[in-house]
Amino acid sequence: MDVIISIAIVMGSLGMILGISLAIAARIFYIETDPRQDQIENLLPGVNCGACGFTGCDRYAEAITKSKDKIEINLCTPGGEETTEAIGGIMGVKAEKREKRIAVLMCSAKNVKDKFSYSGPGNCRSAFLTQGGQKNCKYGCLGFGDCAEVCPTEAIYMDENNMPHVIEERCIACGKCAEICPKNLYQILPVSNYVHVRCKNLDKGVS
Ligand code: SF4
Ligand code: SF4
Repeated sequence: MDVIISIAIVMGSLGMILGISLAIAARIFYIETDPRQDQIENLLPGVNCGACGFTGCDRYAEAITKSKDKIEINLCTPGGEETTEAIGGIMGVKAEKREKRIAVLMCSAKNVKDKFSYSGPGNCRSAFLTQGGQKNCKYGCLGFGDCAEVCPTEAIYMDENNMPHVIEERCIACGKCAEICPKNLYQILPVSNYVHVRCKNLDKGVS
């Protein structure tokens, strides 16, 4: 019985010492954060899509509060103008309006035949590693839909010919489709830029 009581006293004392040490360390190493950072983070949509160019909403909020006007406050595409205005209210600045941008697929091929039978993993990145992919057109879409898979807003769907299509209203211009496409077929463009040559073929025409 005495042994159990002794162990309990030792453990209790150790716990108390550890608790006091942690409390002292927390005071010594405390880093004061700008309260506006939390306010801005709460305003941001929290989708962590990267459209602003930062790895997540928290990093963008931190950059805005620490940047002293060097970081634009209108970079959150999913949040839109409403969020920009609210951030401007917190920071005491007025932001320029930013035109909506969307992903545009630079390939309009239909029913391109395969030049060989590909039986590897069913994704574009793997197919691309096999002689640039199975399609006869070396510049065009491989059709496995990696872009549709990574899109955080389900703004890309694959049609019956395995060609991707972007639903403009859903696109938040995060650029994830552009990053993953091994054929570099996406461009993020302002909506007013609606005339595109939707082909990446770089071959010269017959002279
Ligand atoms: S656009 Fe690119 S990622 Fe999307 S299906 Fe075509 S090749 Fe694959
Ligand atoms: S279509 Fe592309 S840019 Fe638009 S939301 Fe989807 S992944 Fe992002």
